[in-house]
Amino acid sequence: MIRRRFIAGASCPQCGAVDKIVRVEEGERIYMECIACNMIRDLDAEPPREHPTDEPAVPILIRPPKK
Ligand SMILES: [Zn+2]
Repeated sequence: MIRRRFIAGASCPQCGAVDKIVRVEEGERIYMECIACNMIRDLDAEPPREHPTDEPAVPILIRPPKK
């Protein structure tokens, strides 16, 4: 299932077009696409969080490594 949604006010980093950026959700993959120049940028590559640090910088627990 693919969902597309325009991102209002977003400009394309490649061609600079405004309001041509579509956010595409394809299953678990999310990326944005410019309909002006067909640029595709994987959103997984972007830093996902907007809140820098909610947690204290001091390590509290040491968790066993996942396998
Ligand atoms: Zn573009």
